[in-house]
Amino acid sequence: MREHKIEEIRHLTNSAYVLRMERNGFNFQTGQFVMISPGKLALQREYSVYSGENDPFLEVLIREVEEGIVSKQLKLLAPGDRVKLDGPFGFFKFHPGMFPSKKFIFVATGTGISPFHSFVRTFPGLDYQLIHGVRFGNEAYEHNNFDKNRITLCTSGDASGNFEGRVTDYVASQKLHAETQYFLCGNSEMITEMFDILTAKGVPVENIYSEVYF
Ligand SMILES: Cc1cc2nc3c(=O)[nH]c(=O)nc-3n(C[C@H](O)[C@H](O)[C@H](O)COP(=O)(O)OP(=O)(O)OC[C@H]3O[C@@H](n4cnc5c(N)ncnc54)[C@H](O)[C@@H]3O)c2cc1C
Repeated sequence: MREHKIEEIRHLTNSAYVLRMERNGFNFQTGQFVMISPGKLALQREYSVYSGENDPFLEVLIREVEEGIVSKQLKLLAPGDRVKLDGPFGFFKFHPGMFPSKKFIFVATGTGISPFHSFVRTFPGLDYQLIHGVRFGNEAYEHNNFDKNRITLCTSGDASGNFEGRVTDYVASQKLHAETQYFLCGNSEMITEMFDILTAKGVPVENIYSEVYF
């Protein structure tokens, strides 16, 4: 296990924050996750890497879970503190050259936007559409880092998004192309429902990739 110093914490909402750590020679492929443990605690949790493969720092996007332990502890850290880090892990790896079609649809709920932020940062010029589902518009985490013509915000708790409702309702209302590559990240309920919607619309299972957070 390695130790990484915190360089910065950006608070995006009352509960969501970006933890920037020193890169310290850490290598990963975009889409992978790390296990992080706040210095004092032995407990560790998985977090997708939010920064790009070529960034000089390492970032993760975390939402504090009200009843949670680690996401709460990490939020209390300050620049100069250290976290323990393990990894990289996971098979949600992305490289545009891996796929026969170069058209991508990314579907995220909440902090599930994190690996897609890393994809887009690592591969500028990517042909993607990102559909991000949140409750309220203020959870559109750093959408300015994406091409505004390639992002659709779905809000289920207010009318501030491009679409009022859940990501699953939005995708169900769209015409889809079977050869597009679909990437899903976030809560298991969204991923299960999305799988059913995509396959019912004729998308072959081999064109669907998913990462479940909880
Ligand atoms: C591969 C992978 C990647 C992940 N990447 C991220 C990431 O980039 N950003 C991120 O914020 N989280 C991510 N998670 C979730 C993260 O690992 C923790 O589960 C989360 O931070 C809660 O940890 P905790 O110790 O605070 O809460 P715990 O004490 O472990 O859990 C408390 C309860 O909250 C539930 N829970 C866990 N996550 C959430 C959530 N986001 N919203 C609501 N309830 C939840 C748990 O199922 C549990 O019932 C990822 C999980 C996996 C498996």
